[in-house]
Amino acid sequence: MKGFQIFRRASTAIRNRATPSKLLIVLTFGAAGGAFLAISDDSPFRSLTAGESGNDGGKKKKLVVLGTGWGGTTFLKNLKTSAYDVHVVSPHNYFTFTPLLPSVTNGTVEARSIVEPIRNIVRNKPYNVEFKEAECYRIDPVNKKVYCRSIQNLGHGENEFALDYDVLVIAMGARVNTFNTPGVEEHAHFLKEVDDAQKLRRSIIDCYERASLPTISEEEKKRIMHFVVVGGGPTGVEYAAELHDFASQDLASLYPSLKDYLKITLLEAGNHILPMFHKKVTDFANEKFQKDQIDVKTGSMVVKVSDKDISTKNRATGQIEAIPYGVVLWSTGIATRPVIAEFMEKIGQAGRRVMAIDEWLKVQGCDDVYALGDCASIAQRKALEDAAAIMKTVDKNNAGAVDVGDFKEFVKDIYERYPQVRKYLEKNKLKNFEALLRNAQGDSQKKIDIEALKKALSEVDSQVSFLPPTAQVASQQGKYLAACFNKAGRCEKKPEGPFRFQENAGRYPFHPFRYTIENPFLFTALLLFTFLVIELTGLSICLVGAGVISYKHSGQFAPLGGEQAAVQFPGDWVSIGHASQGLWYTVYAR
Ligand SMILES: Cc1cc2nc3c(=O)[nH]c(=O)nc-3n(C[C@H](O)[C@H](O)[C@H](O)COP(=O)(O)OP(=O)(O)OC[C@H]3O[C@@H](n4cnc5c(N)ncnc54)[C@H](O)[C@@H]3O)c2cc1C
Repeated sequence: MKGFQIFRRASTAIRNRATPSKLLIVLTFGAAGGAFLAISDDSPFRSLTAGESGNDGGKKKKLVVLGTGWGGTTFLKNLKTSAYDVHVVSPHNYFTFTPLLPSVTNGTVEARSIVEPIRNIVRNKPYNVEFKEAECYRIDPVNKKVYCRSIQNLGHGENEFALDYDVLVIAMGARVNTFNTPGVEEHAHFLKEVDDAQKLRRSIIDCYERASLPTISEEEKKRIMHFVVVGGGPTGVEYAAELHDFASQDLASLYPSLKDYLKITLLEAGNHILPMFHKKVTDFANEKFQKDQIDVKTGSMVVKVSDKDISTKNRATGQIEAIPYGVVLWSTGIATRPVIAEFMEKIGQAGRRVMAIDEWLKVQGCDDVYALGDCASIAQRKALEDAAAIMKTVDKNNAGAVDVGDFKEFVKDIYERYPQVRKYLEKNKLKNFEALLRNAQGDSQKKIDIEALKKALSEVDSQVSFLPPTAQVASQQGKYLAACFNKAGRCEKKPEGPFRFQENAGRYPFHPFRYTIENPFLFTALLLFTFLVIELTGLSICLVGAGVISYKHSGQFAPLGGEQAAVQFPGDWVSIGHASQGLWYTVYAR
């Protein structure tokens, strides 16, 4: 339970100022469950098993981990093998519980309550570990080296060093996407790190103090007291709501003369705020913000930020407007870090938006390098591309055509290797793979040849989906990857993954990382039960550690201020209002 100190601290901090919205956010870490892992076509775990079995002369493999966020920390927590010398590189010597960052900006939660020192987290692990507080600025996959720069202000040449690796895990997250908008880097605030949250809070208070000075004109007062949030996604919406609560509940009594000057604007380039949510949630958020006098401007694209104005372009009319502001928060999604972009060029991934990893989290086009979390995206293998390989496997006698029933032996493997097949069957209400083949077969007497198989698989890849860049995904990938490292030797001998169609031989050592949607009915029943237990017993954060064995999407949550929240559970089941917070809380208490 040591690893969960952060929850206890956050829990205490929150209880001191207990609003349900805070409780439920803390528990998001609990969803950071696990999953199982597997192996790629060119057997990336080769090197891992060599280290584990000691057949490299007993010398331990050197494992370098870049980043101590959700992905990296969960990986380190769950790594149990002593087969490696582990070197961790990160510019922050602590883990940050990001869902609580917006609450740090208004002081509801203290910054120290949402961080956990990395040295504490890796203490007493079965592996040797060294931590370097530095940022990696170059990855050399040919010579297997990472180049790092200390964040300490040391003398010339003393703050740079190189580390070689046998195995590399990249968990460096992503940077804020500014879309190269002029002035954003210089004038806008971001909300990615604890420092950002503290800086943002100081800037808001500074505005109140400045606006209180007698020398400030009416016009200037209005400008200073105008707080603009750019980006109508969950973070932008949550911050606008938090800021409204902070200003109306705390600052209004401390600065009563400024109450009427306060203005909060939320700018969104698209047509809706919270576009990833159900329409009911968007409508509720809009109504709530209207009531709170938060000005929501959709279709407003920011084209420039200066020290005093933010220029927007109305997407419908093309009209440019310069809006005076006091503080602007930029929260418009994420982009690839420059060091990763440079690495991607070296490994043949130039031009991609996000680094591609396979279903076993191995970086495509690069041996012994894994990546997880926001810095990478799983490139799901297309079933249609492997139609010939599947046919060759099933057609054992090389007859050129087979019976529908001949696929039976491989159906489970097809479902596991290409999860989009099952999703397609569900979406089209087809009972099983056989039904899909029969549809393509036309004449029931006809055998299935490669053309019929291609026809059957022609639409299934439309069901390939991408995992969202969230803490839930990053932490479950970390747990999954660690589990693979832990059992690499065993699974190399006794593989547990699906059949390797491309090689027409053998199995992958591991199951691929899997995204699973919860059964909405079971899920709801479980939620209500857990909610009741929690309500009746007061049981809370101690339950957070319960892991899951594959990625389960637990839904998404948008705090809207005033202790109201909107939650969208799997199956598009939407809950809005005060009770939603309690329900969401139960998601992470499982
Ligand atoms: C304000 C906010 C609220 C959020 N709320 C939620 C939520 O409620 N639920 C949810 O699921 N997700 C939420 N997220 C998203 C979630 O935080 C991310 O998806 C998650 O942090 C991704 O994990 P990661 O390990 O990939 O990256 P991160 O957690 O960002 O970790 C990256 C790590 O890499 C380190 N690093 C950076 N550069 C370098 C370098 N050059 N060399 C070495 N190390 C480096 C960083 O210091 C950090 O330790 C939120 C994000 C924010 C910003």
